[in-house]
Amino acid sequence: MSEQDFKGFSKLKRNERFQKLQDLGLLDKEDVNLLKKSQFLKQDLAEDFIENSLGYFPMPYGVVTHLNVNGVDRLVPMAVEETSIIAAASKTAKWIKSNNGKITTKRVSSENIGQIQFSHIKSPEAFVDLVKKQSSDWVNICNSSVSKSHFDRGGGVKRFEPRVVSRPDEGFMGVVHVYIDTGEAMGANVINQVCEFMKDQLEEVLKEKPTMCILSNLADTNLTKVTITLEVEKNLASKILEASYFAESDPYRASTNNKGIMNAIDSVLIATGNDWRAVEAGAHAYTSRKGSYTALATWRVSDLEGSEKSLLTGEMSIPMSIGTVGGVTKLHPFAQLSMKLAKTTNVEELASVVSAVGLVQNLGALRALTTVGIIEGHMRLHIKNLALGAGAKESESPLLQKKLEEILRLTKRITLSQATEALTEIRARLGGGRIKERVSSKNDASS
Ligand code: NDP
Repeated sequence: MSEQDFKGFSKLKRNERFQKLQDLGLLDKEDVNLLKKSQFLKQDLAEDFIENSLGYFPMPYGVVTHLNVNGVDRLVPMAVEETSIIAAASKTAKWIKSNNGKITTKRVSSENIGQIQFSHIKSPEAFVDLVKKQSSDWVNICNSSVSKSHFDRGGGVKRFEPRVVSRPDEGFMGVVHVYIDTGEAMGANVINQVCEFMKDQLEEVLKEKPTMCILSNLADTNLTKVTITLEVEKNLASKILEASYFAESDPYRASTNNKGIMNAIDSVLIATGNDWRAVEAGAHAYTSRKGSYTALATWRVSDLEGSEKSLLTGEMSIPMSIGTVGGVTKLHPFAQLSMKLAKTTNVEELASVVSAVGLVQNLGALRALTTVGIIEGHMRLHIKNLALGAGAKESESPLLQKKLEEILRLTKRITLSQATEALTEIRARLGGGRIKERVSSKNDASS
């Protein structure tokens, strides 16, 4: 492939792009048919949303059940390919309910941050003083112009704050933070516009040269706090406490622990058309704020007077810079469908549900890890994928899955090669015609 091959590719019509990729031997007719079938929406949104679009990448879409947040039952829509996520979240939400559990959330703050960098400042003291002095004037300037519509809705720019950051070489850079309540929007674009708009003004007053400006994804002034309490058998509670200490103390474990939390969070964010990369980046940066990477959530145990059980309490505060307007949230029909399913009508409710399901997922993972282990639930569900991966036909799949479950129970492990071998054995043993017969008889399959 040469650079010439893709000259003007973005300007081509979809069919012309297909032809180009076929000419280059990258796609064949069948691939093109698959891509064409992926376009089932009335309007070709992919063409509007991104450059060089070829179609859509379908993802499984489903709902978490049994979740009750702040006393309200919620279905939680997720777009996710990983097998066990919805199952584990639903199972854990049900477990919380049946153990006197409560999930509560609170939006602690709702301001997003923009940054303007001044790479070399002459005097850090003068820089700090001036920004503090000018803050309210600058707020007024913004809210009567660039952020007026947000201000009129009750949000807008709140304040400007100075920061002095050591340079990796020597000296200091100055950074001005702009705090903005972006209302129902995630706000990336208005924040960037405010920063750009104020750059010249700041240069004139501060007598320093601005270098660049952009929003920060470390939205630590846009936090949602979620708390889960439930009554748990003492032995299990202390195991979950130990698992929490592990994730809090060891970054290697914290990373996997937090990935589990983000499994749930990202899946809802994708389903609601939100920028999950922004929330991911913010969550990981936030949990490193004390200088080392740690668990996003903590679990603690306390006695319950007169009970054989302990009270298990989980807490997590997480930056939740998301929107119910802006980006593709209002444009993508699935995002709208998701908001309807979750009965979420504003950003606070959405942040509440997203954060809650993240902590629920964490509890589910810690419970599984400290009891049956990860293999049990995860691999049992993964068996279906292994059967598909081995090439089992619909009629062969139940038999193969049963065989794989048996192997898993006996050996505690299961791989794709084992699935392929088992399928070959089944085929050899039964022959194509007889497989159908066996599978249609439920008794036979479960014997
Ligand atoms: P938009 O640029 O679509 O802005 C949303 C607009 O919605 C607002 O400007 C506002 O316009 C309008 N609006 C209507 N009602 C409301 C309301 N009640 N509250 C707030 N706004 C309202 O989206 P965002 O600014 O939210 O940007 C999100 C997008 O930016 C995402 O797609 C994200 O991927 C992307 N992005 C992310 C970056 C990052 O995270 N680092 C960087 C750059 C982009 P008006 O006030 O005129 O009515």
